[in-house]
Amino acid sequence: MKNIAILCSGGDVSGMNPALKHFVEYSLQKGLTPYFVYDGYEGLIDNNIREATYKDVSGIINRGGTKIRSARSKRFIDKKYRDIAKKNLDMLNIDMLVVLGGDGSFKGLDIFYKENGIKFCGIPATIDNDISGTEYCLGVDSALNIIKTSIDSIRDTAASFSRAFVIETMGRDCGYLALISALTCGAELCLIPEKEYDLKSYEDKFKKEIQNGRRYFLAIVSEGIKQDSKEIAEWFSQKIGMESKVTVLGHVQRGGNPTVYDRLMAYKFINHAITALLQGKDESVICYTKDGFKYKSIDEVVNTTFKLDPELLEFLENV
Ligand code: ATP
Repeated sequence: MKNIAILCSGGDVSGMNPALKHFVEYSLQKGLTPYFVYDGYEGLIDNNIREATYKDVSGIINRGGTKIRSARSKRFIDKKYRDIAKKNLDMLNIDMLVVLGGDGSFKGLDIFYKENGIKFCGIPATIDNDISGTEYCLGVDSALNIIKTSIDSIRDTAASFSRAFVIETMGRDCGYLALISALTCGAELCLIPEKEYDLKSYEDKFKKEIQNGRRYFLAIVSEGIKQDSKEIAEWFSQKIGMESKVTVLGHVQRGGNPTVYDRLMAYKFINHAITALLQGKDESVICYTKDGFKYKSIDEVVNTTFKLDPELLEFLENV
């Protein structure tokens, strides 16, 4: 019987639990013994690695977060601790690792493989959707649905009170969440780091819209833009003449129960990751592309600068 382990590293996303459930089921189906590594790379170092059974994953498919927890590990950057991690895996005869995480986690994994030969397959998981080489990262759809529900609620109060609402989404330097939310939730303004903007250019348009009967504005801004959301709200009050409020959605975007799409993507990512390892692909990341799932090298994923889909960027012109 061969042994295979899974861990979550970096920011957690909704969709990790369905992935864990299918990891256990699919491993057993393929004659592998599944193991959980708790607390990311910290768990590898501290030998917090346990065999996983059906019992461990019962009742988690509908839960956000991750049952085996996630972590960032400073120690894993130090070879001394990676060697301890290798010893711990050797003791359990584990030489295959599936990692749900971001490009930082994959970088660490690649170094680990090159030093110690622990085969791995990375599954992109971050709500920011900013990993190069993949169109989709696990957790994005659940985050977008949380944002959608929040914006729909804010619209109700904005419409009742004649207010401008500035809603800030996560994404670090990537405007994906803000842009998709603006396109699907009907925002009047969308500001993202990928596109220069000048608020002045909206002033005449927005004032005219008020004269023509507009009673409220929704502005969706990504956390990575050059200005603070409060400044955008002040601009609405001072230059457009409408009372304004800021809502920073924050970590609410990372939680909540996984959507159908994320549950299905979790299922598919896991199938592909385990298949890759069984087929002798020793160091790959499973990416979702316009042509379906593709195995990519760490180098391609980690050392290529992420760029937002140009087609989506064009849509920004119409917001
Ligand atoms: P997120 O997008 O949520 O930030 P991430 O995977 O990019 O996810 P990071 O914090 O960049 O998150 O990396 C996660 C962990 O990967 C780090 O805490 C560290 O343990 C490991 N790691 C990152 N870079 C390296 C490296 N160069 N060498 C060894 N380990 C690394």
